[in-house]
Amino acid sequence: MINVKAKKRFGQNFLKDDSVLIEIIQSMPHNDNHLVEIGPGLGDLTKKLVKCKDVTAYEVDRDLYSILQKEFQSELESKKLNIILGDVLEQWNKNNSLYNSKYDMIANLPYYIATNIILNAFDDVKCEHIIVMVQKEVADKFTASCGDKEYSSLGVITQLVSKEAKTLIVVPPESFNPPPKVDSAVIYIKKDLDKSVSVGFKKFLKGCFVQPRKKLIKNLSAFHNKKLLIDIFEELNIPETARPHEVDASLYSHIYTKVTNNGREQNATC
Ligand code: SAM
Repeated sequence: MINVKAKKRFGQNFLKDDSVLIEIIQSMPHNDNHLVEIGPGLGDLTKKLVKCKDVTAYEVDRDLYSILQKEFQSELESKKLNIILGDVLEQWNKNNSLYNSKYDMIANLPYYIATNIILNAFDDVKCEHIIVMVQKEVADKFTASCGDKEYSSLGVITQLVSKEAKTLIVVPPESFNPPPKVDSAVIYIKKDLDKSVSVGFKKFLKGCFVQPRKKLIKNLSAFHNKKLLIDIFEELNIPETARPHEVDASLYSHIYTKVTNNGREQNATC
């Protein structure tokens, strides 16, 4: 086993539990999609992924990149594996996508940017499945349903852009080296490639959940005309007393369309 000091600033917690790695591999969909891994680290998951399919991996840490170059020399030569040195978020900024054809993202994500990575993967039209380890608290937000106390803008967006979103397994700190301070979880998301949400809609949702325990209509009236909101809520059969976590994802897109069209539902712009 390779021994390196984990760097906190890169969110390095290396997964050491083989049973979790196997569970991730077994949950992969059977399709022809390419695989993209973010943060291969010491390559434990990568080793299993390249046995299944061709992989493109993004690693920001130059020291780990050098180790991986030696460890995977034959896979790199045979082009089963391509490792790109750099920040994955910069790659998205430059290219809009992490690969040039349909892919599935499989990774033990660096927690400090995990939410951002998943939101970018939602916007990436080439990404179809997302199977990633994140902090359990973040997993609960992405997989929450209307009515759950964890249901937030992340849950609404996930419901609007995916066909399925669920937690596969909860992973305790002892499964990592060094152990993180919190529980982790692997989530599985199958995107609906025909669906997306706009930047404007995401901004609108932030306003909806700005004070999550207050009434939704109160949060919204900081940005929109109260009378218009009362009419829209009545038309959509949403009680005026509803809290943000009690309103279904599809209703959020209707409210957004109506407030942006000033009450009239014209083109869906969510
Ligand atoms: N996959 C390995 C495993 O399961 O043991 C390592 C996972 S560790 C939680 C996160 C990995 O992401 C580290 O290798 C870290 O260097 C890398 N990383 C952190 N920030 C990154 C970024 N912005 N772009 C690409 N990789 C990043």
